[in-house]
Amino acid sequence: MALVHTGEAPASAAAVVAATAITVAIAFLVLYLVGFDQGTISRSGMFLHELMHDGRHLLGVPCH
Ligand SMILES: [Zn+2]
Repeated sequence: MALVHTGEAPASAAAVVAATAITVAIAFLVLYLVGFDQGTISRSGMFLHELMHDGRHLLGVPCH
C-alpha cells in the first residue's frame, strides 16, 4: 500500500464541525422551503414560489 501526500494540512475538528453544522442548517432550510413553506416565505416572487412547488412534486411531498 502506498501513501500519497497531497501537501494540504488536515482539516481541524472544529472546521469539520462548523462545515457540518452549516450544511445541516442549509439542508433544513431547503427542506422547509420545499416541503412546508406553502408560500409563506417563497411568495416573494412567483418564480421562487413555482420552483418550490415543483420541488414538492419532485420529492413526492403531499401538496394538493
Ligand atoms: Zn402541487
